[in-house]
Amino acid sequence: MAKKQFKAESKRLLELMINSIYTNREIFLRELISNASDATDKRYYNALKEGQSGLNREELSIDLSVDREARTLTVSDHGCGMTKEELEQNLGTIAKSGSLEFKRNNDTVGEDLDIIGQFGVGFYAAFMVAKRVEVISRSQDSEEAWRWVSDGADGYTVTPAERAECGTTILLTLKDDTEQEKYGEFLQEYRLRGIVKKYSDYIRYPIRMPVEKSRMVEGSDKDEEGKDKQPEYESYTEVETLNSMVPIWKKRKNEVTEEEYNHFYKDKFYDFEDPLRVITSSTEGLATYNALLFIPAHAPYNYYSRDYEKGLQLYSSGVLIMDKCADLLPDHFSFVRGIVDSQDLSLNISREMLQHDRQLKLIAGSLEKKIKNELEQMLKNDREKYEKFFGEFGLQLKYGIYSSYGGTKDLLADLLLYTTSSEKKYATLKEYCDRMREGQKYIYYAAGESVAKLDVMPQNERLKEQGYEILYLTDDVDEFTLKAMRDYAGKEFKSTSDDDLGIDNEAEKEEIKKQNEENKDLLSCIKEQLGDKVADVVLTSRLKSYPVCLTAKGQISLEMEKVLNAMPAPEANKIKAQRVLEINAGHPVFAALKALYPDNKEKLASYAQILYTQALLIEGIPVEDPVAYTNAVCSLMVGE
Ligand code: ADP
Repeated sequence: MAKKQFKAESKRLLELMINSIYTNREIFLRELISNASDATDKRYYNALKEGQSGLNREELSIDLSVDREARTLTVSDHGCGMTKEELEQNLGTIAKSGSLEFKRNNDTVGEDLDIIGQFGVGFYAAFMVAKRVEVISRSQDSEEAWRWVSDGADGYTVTPAERAECGTTILLTLKDDTEQEKYGEFLQEYRLRGIVKKYSDYIRYPIRMPVEKSRMVEGSDKDEEGKDKQPEYESYTEVETLNSMVPIWKKRKNEVTEEEYNHFYKDKFYDFEDPLRVITSSTEGLATYNALLFIPAHAPYNYYSRDYEKGLQLYSSGVLIMDKCADLLPDHFSFVRGIVDSQDLSLNISREMLQHDRQLKLIAGSLEKKIKNELEQMLKNDREKYEKFFGEFGLQLKYGIYSSYGGTKDLLADLLLYTTSSEKKYATLKEYCDRMREGQKYIYYAAGESVAKLDVMPQNERLKEQGYEILYLTDDVDEFTLKAMRDYAGKEFKSTSDDDLGIDNEAEKEEIKKQNEENKDLLSCIKEQLGDKVADVVLTSRLKSYPVCLTAKGQISLEMEKVLNAMPAPEANKIKAQRVLEINAGHPVFAALKALYPDNKEKLASYAQILYTQALLIEGIPVEDPVAYTNAVCSLMVGE
């Protein structure tokens, strides 16, 4: 019979597995048991949903057995099984879920083979220890059973088989032992027992195995006269349950080691890095539940895209009813992974009904508070870790405030971090406020491309010099978030390019007003030269050593203009900030402009263009006509 080929990626992965010098091979068993458990969950859940009673968890065991002569190890379950099509689809190709993430990392795997053991690689792990894998499966929806056999990367066959009940049996023929590698260890009872304890203790179905025991032959310790004598022993086999079956989320935190939590997380959520934080929560009362949540150490590659699906695994009294229950997590905490197990939910609950479920709402509300508290604790007690967290997921918190129009401000504002002008380090808003200058009215911010660029922006110069600290906003959403919050602890947010920074005294204000008045004609002449590029040209006191800067009046700042226009929209819908060219009244350049007016308007026009373009360059806004600008500067250089 012709062999079918594995799909291309599967083949690559298989070759990798088979030839890997990977040392942690034992995880193959964890993978097979975890698949068996998932399949049993599905069957159990389906039966409950259809109102079938009579299925008993105790009877839905996962059975291990070995044949030392034949060097085979068998893992058998009473789960939902697979049809012929499912066998081909699931085992002939790397399916969805965990394997996807793996594919993404596939290219780095060559250098770091250890990565294989870090997260679920599924069924294929069997080929790390087996030279031949045989799967006999019967689906719960079918009378037929099928046998899938593969000797490795060159393909597989599927033929009809016999199986009395639904479920799956996986028979591994172990590789031959070599000098370095003793695959035979996976036929040893103590070894298998150890692996099950280590990785699969929490599996909620009994994992059973016949174990050899020895006992005293009854009466053999006494001789015919009833005197003590050397007893005789006989060996017998007894099927033993190897796992404790208590789900890890039902255990108390002090009963579980950090390593166990980390293992569980990586295995269950296909991550290769330990979580940053483990959160356990259980309550009784209005909503009774156990939750085990994790804050990942890094954002999944699709986190900030539409593909990312948030949600927690939802169990009802130990039965998985939904893999990603979105209603349990608000969007601003969508990065949290984990499990919620509640006794109060009906098994028959549909997605639509769940949305209206009161219990679920109560649980979601209490989890939200818990997550917030944990993040606050982290911020307080482990700043370094929190900053790492914020680097990965801070954007999501900011989006949370923005998209709720500030509604989530009370919950999230204290979790935000911004780099500030004083030390170029992260500060919370509270830290900023605590070190505000006496009499400081506003929280100042400047939005731009990078901290380095913001730090040399002309309009920030004077504020900084006077000892005011500035939040440097470098994410697109930042300014929108602050606008949604309006203020923090009663202090309004103020852009450093705002008209009135609230730092001038009355006399200074009067002075600049006077100067504007006196130079009205000159300024409007410059404005005329610039046409509709600017809404206004004014003299300013905010600049110190720079001649010009560009600001905006109205609601849309220059940075917001950039962000909004980066989104796809027809040209006609592009947004334009009302640009204001501000000129430093005390700068020699202004004196030069004054000298040209009114007699040399031609040169004034050229200077106006140059200054405007310089302001654009400083703001990081593309220059419309770089050639004209260069020509104008060259003319200046040769003294034309
Ligand atoms: P994953 O478990 O990450 O989806 P696997 O390679 O381990 O990937 O398995 C692929 C698919 O094969 C599973 O999603 C499941 O549908 C099916 N499968 C594997 N083992 C079993 C089993 N014992 N019973 C039923 N289906 C199984």
